[in-house]
Amino acid sequence: MKVVGDAEHHNRNHKGPWGPAHGVMIHHTVTDADRHDTVDICRRGYASLPGPLCHGVITKDGTVHVVGYGRTNHAGGGDDEVLRAVIAESYGARPPADNESGTDGNRHFYGFECENLGDGKDPWPAAQVEAMERAAAAVCRAHGWGGRSVIGHAEWQPGKVDPLGVDMPDLRERVGDRLKNKPGGRPATYTVRKGDTLSRIARTHDTTVAKLARLNRLVDPDRITVGQQLKLK
Ligand SMILES: [Zn+2]
Repeated sequence: MKVVGDAEHHNRNHKGPWGPAHGVMIHHTVTDADRHDTVDICRRGYASLPGPLCHGVITKDGTVHVVGYGRTNHAGGGDDEVLRAVIAESYGARPPADNESGTDGNRHFYGFECENLGDGKDPWPAAQVEAMERAAAAVCRAHGWGGRSVIGHAEWQPGKVDPLGVDMPDLRERVGDRLKNKPGGRPATYTVRKGDTLSRIARTHDTTVAKLARLNRLVDPDRITVGQQLKLK
């Protein structure tokens, strides 16, 4: 994690209220990683939309750049029904379909802008998705929230599509799984999900591929299957 500039005091609090915070919102930036200006754009904003445009920017390399704290220009107006569902964490795989935009999201959500072209083709590297999980889980843990406090911009504001290509129900589950583990504590098992590799599982659980292979008597560490239960200790 990198703190950029005076992030702690960089906000839009002079333009409107901040808090109480109720959730975390995930976005894609529509910026080109090759230009290396994603963090700067999110911090400063632009003429028609002054920054900060979020609290944290998650670049493709998996670094979380903290650029602001307080009210930031990321969420816009959304649906009060969605906000209530997020507060209660009372929904199933997805929050209610949003069709209203009268509720101030910048007041109630932390925002993470995640570096991606947003064209539905630009890939989401594993390191970046993992950073999204970790950052969202850290905020949720600090507030005592669960995984359903994390939504995508598309789930909040009518007309938004971001973060395009990120499976939000899956991300919520992953965040929820992280939150079940006490910080520093270790879960005993892990159920393999789509897209997992043993090295990724090892990294996120502070262990090694060799240890996992031995514990689970894996003949070929490249061959794990979705739904398989792995012992972690
Ligand atoms: Zn967005």
